[in-house]
Amino acid sequence: MDKILRIDMGAKGGPKAHEKPLGEYAGIGGRAMTSAIIAKEVPPMCHPLGEDNKLVFAPGLLSGSVAAMSGRISVGFKSPLTGGIKESNAGGQPSQMIGRLGYAAIVLEGKPKDDTIYKIIINKDGADIVTDNSLNMLGNYDLVAKIKKECGDKVACISIGPAGEMKMAAASVAFTDMEMRPTRHAGRGGAGAVMGSKGVKVIIVDDTGTSMRTPADPEKFKKANKNFVQGLKKHPVTGEGLPAYGTNVLTNVVNEAGAYPTRNFTSGRFETCSRISGETQAETETARGGLATHGCHKGCVIRCSGVYNDKDGNFLTKQPEYETVWAHGGNCEIDDLDAIAMLDRLDDDFGLDTIEMGATIGVAMEAGLAKFGDAEAAINLLKEVGKGTPLGRILGNGAAITGKVFGVERVPVVKGQSMPAYDPRAVQGQGVTYATSPMGADHTAGYAVATNLLGVGGNVDALKPEGQVELSRNLQIATAAIDSTGMCLFIAFAILDQPETFQALIDLINGFTGQKLTADDITALGKSILNNERDFNARAGFTSKDDRLPDYFRKEKFAPHDVRFEVTDEELDQVFNW
Ligand code: SF4
Repeated sequence: MDKILRIDMGAKGGPKAHEKPLGEYAGIGGRAMTSAIIAKEVPPMCHPLGEDNKLVFAPGLLSGSVAAMSGRISVGFKSPLTGGIKESNAGGQPSQMIGRLGYAAIVLEGKPKDDTIYKIIINKDGADIVTDNSLNMLGNYDLVAKIKKECGDKVACISIGPAGEMKMAAASVAFTDMEMRPTRHAGRGGAGAVMGSKGVKVIIVDDTGTSMRTPADPEKFKKANKNFVQGLKKHPVTGEGLPAYGTNVLTNVVNEAGAYPTRNFTSGRFETCSRISGETQAETETARGGLATHGCHKGCVIRCSGVYNDKDGNFLTKQPEYETVWAHGGNCEIDDLDAIAMLDRLDDDFGLDTIEMGATIGVAMEAGLAKFGDAEAAINLLKEVGKGTPLGRILGNGAAITGKVFGVERVPVVKGQSMPAYDPRAVQGQGVTYATSPMGADHTAGYAVATNLLGVGGNVDALKPEGQVELSRNLQIATAAIDSTGMCLFIAFAILDQPETFQALIDLINGFTGQKLTADDITALGKSILNNERDFNARAGFTSKDDRLPDYFRKEKFAPHDVRFEVTDEELDQVFNW
């Protein structure tokens, strides 16, 4: 990966692509790359949908190699949802293929002068930018089926649905999986709206004629990869729980802990959650001829995903993840797996963030637009978004806008982005991450649930404020570094608990790059990424007041533990004080 592909969508005479050397961006990948480019090149006060914003796709440092788990891609931009810097992360096939094509980043810049729709084909000969207005307002599934007919099934797609074309702040970017389905999404922050503002409907990636990226030290790399995989397989979360039941294995666990936000964050227990648990989901998938275990890209050995078929045994959607099942399930008091799977399918087809949409529908239910528990009404609300009706346009811009329009006080957002599936009062470390992450409320930015509830990486009492700031700080640093490698974040369970697996990861990076990085260097990398991101946000006008939860989390007691969020503002301000 020795070059950057820059595509100027606003160039005189029509969009133009240029290959550029890495220059100051040499040696970094994934989130380190996206955040470095955005922080340096995007004016922090620019409009997120204007010509000055950029959309950066960066494979991880190890993407395109045979390193296990290395197929994640980072998408960077100024977020139309939060107004701050964003890195949104996805699986699927494109990351490995872009890595093999030699691109450390693909950057969409500028803005076309009219509403022309473009598709971009990237292969070993470079990039071809083609006008194709026949793609207008296609859902991701129809779009990918059309591309498959034109280009065959060996390519991968990066695309937006109608929500992205309508520039909704909850719009995602879809990445095709191993079966060339648009099921993996960079969901958070409105990446799809930024892609829509650039006039790009789909990027077709074709790596025909390329080969695997080769390591600097093949022997060291091979040995480290073997040890790394062994470590993942022996850890109970990455070796057993996630492969068997997917991320939805958490439903029973988080509900039991009283931390499962139910009916728009009004209670920590959902009475009928067993109907939508990972165990029930896996049983349903297997009985209908789907798959309870499946990888989202080649080289994944944890395989936390699956295939969800409808009652007739036909493919409906990929296995909805825990956060999706929660957002459209317990958060809206819906305990019907088929309805949740349909909502997931519609989100993927329209190109929407499942977390943002579930939280938004929860707020809409609180506003009285539908009754809690009414699955049909939830599906109809989502269809309004896909159609772009005036109501749909409000909902498609997320929970914060919806709460404002309908006068709802209980809106679970930070920096304008919805909280995921863990109540910050019952998992206080997660509350610290929600409040302080430069990304807005984001569970992956520093997954304190691991240590607060699962006993991974130690134990810190979930209900007490003590130790949460340090926990969140360390996790945010580690996460920023992992997000730069192309590794799936779920490796964190094994590397937090097993020092030899952490060492195997470092050896893997060193074996591939020929560097001599230590654990301290990884920490320094994580800190430098966060510093970059926080600096961008400060220049965009963010202050410590933006690093706070909505005040009802400090006022309302949360059942069943009757707890409030207790970490003080002064403590929150210490998270990045290193
Ligand atoms: S563990 Fe799950 S999310 Fe991670 S790469 Fe594998 S299938 Fe994708």
